[in-house]
Amino acid sequence: MNKRILFVCALLMVASAPSFAVEKDWFESLKNRGDAETLYRVLHAMPKGGDLHNHLSGAVYSEWWYEIALSQADRGYEYFTKVKIENCRDYGENAFSIAPYFLLFRNIVEAEYHSLNACEKSEYKALRDLDSREKAAWLNSIRLDKPFEGRDEFFQTHWQRLNALVRNPWIQAETLYKNMQAFGEEGLTYLELQVSVGGYQKPDGSPLSSDFVANVLRERLKQPDAIATGVTVRFQIAILRFVPFAEAALRFDYKFVHDNPDLWVAINMVGREDNDKGYPGRFLPTLRELRRQYDGVKLSIHAGEVDEPNAHVRDTLLLGADRIGHGINLITDDELMRQMRHGPYMVEINLISNLLLNYITDYSQHPFPEYLRTGIPVALSTDDRGMWDSTMTDEFFVAVTEFDLSWEEVKLLSRNSLSYSFTEQGQKQALLDKYNKAIQKFENRMAKAVQKSAQTGEIKGLQAMPATRGFVCKQYKLCF
Ligand SMILES: [Zn+2]
Repeated sequence: MNKRILFVCALLMVASAPSFAVEKDWFESLKNRGDAETLYRVLHAMPKGGDLHNHLSGAVYSEWWYEIALSQADRGYEYFTKVKIENCRDYGENAFSIAPYFLLFRNIVEAEYHSLNACEKSEYKALRDLDSREKAAWLNSIRLDKPFEGRDEFFQTHWQRLNALVRNPWIQAETLYKNMQAFGEEGLTYLELQVSVGGYQKPDGSPLSSDFVANVLRERLKQPDAIATGVTVRFQIAILRFVPFAEAALRFDYKFVHDNPDLWVAINMVGREDNDKGYPGRFLPTLRELRRQYDGVKLSIHAGEVDEPNAHVRDTLLLGADRIGHGINLITDDELMRQMRHGPYMVEINLISNLLLNYITDYSQHPFPEYLRTGIPVALSTDDRGMWDSTMTDEFFVAVTEFDLSWEEVKLLSRNSLSYSFTEQGQKQALLDKYNKAIQKFENRMAKAVQKSAQTGEIKGLQAMPATRGFVCKQYKLCF
């Protein structure tokens, strides 16, 4: 290298060194302020990529359920909910029944209400007629917000309470829109939602076909307000893994995904893994049979969402899954941990879900940082944030606060949430390009603003603190 070039290089280094150092460290400076509120505001405003693990009927805040359920009167759906128990039956279907008798705030349609005897009718009240105390209790009945509530409350009562509400495709369509809007406002551009296309009913209780339901969802996505959210949606169909008819459901849904590639991309398997009837290996013969007939159906499957070590993650990869939901106990499988490093499979991390369902008792037990920092692909997701009363910003806030994430790690999580999505390649690239542009702009703006704030304390151009939800208020005292 000649002297002249050396001199120019030295000059360039001197000129760029100070601002480079500050810009690179802006996120560290931000964290070092120890100001949770400002960190939250930055994470809220930050472009975030997608949410790949999200159950549509679990993603709905209680007040949305209430408001949307009432709006369905126009379509002939009137809802009733159980507000008291008068011991009308001398036998009780136990808590594990599909229709447990001893369960308050179970929602039914008017046709079912009229089929009840006078005693049971007296236990129900029209949803629109609830007084303020009953309404507050109804809203709380589908939130996991008490210290004594956990896995059993979630798995054994929330879904059983929703009941009729999730059998109305127009409710699903409206909750879909509300989610697109809310996630869009948090800076997300992609949602891969788990939603069923079976079991839907007309107001009189007669069935609606899967194709009909799919069209209701499809049409909702075409409405201008949905398009205006800027959020791209794809669907997975979730199958309850431990029921006796799970193989039949898998056959039907697999074909459905194959036949509806415009929006449907994958099959998922859900339901508590501590019910051994849904063990992964059960589905290997059926999936092999289906792969002889159909192409193009991806699998993302819940696995390793358990307290004890087992081979569920390993066996689920053998099923053909490209993504693992939760993967908490992957950390107990040394050999698989080695194989997953820098590997093609991603683990969908649900930090808030895992805490509230007691798979960990505090974040020091969570394997997420070990996966992230040994090169196992991971992304953050919300699972059933309506029931946790939380947001995607909260997931990032928990991750950054509990594990001191670097800015590069934050961006990697968002990029993974797009690059491991199941949408078609062209769409995926467009989303990644959009994210890369948006995050570059955001970090440039934040780097300058944080640097300037060293004098004033105020980060200019940052939105005001958004309204926060129950989880982050209770756990981190961020109540706005
Ligand atoms: Zn899940």
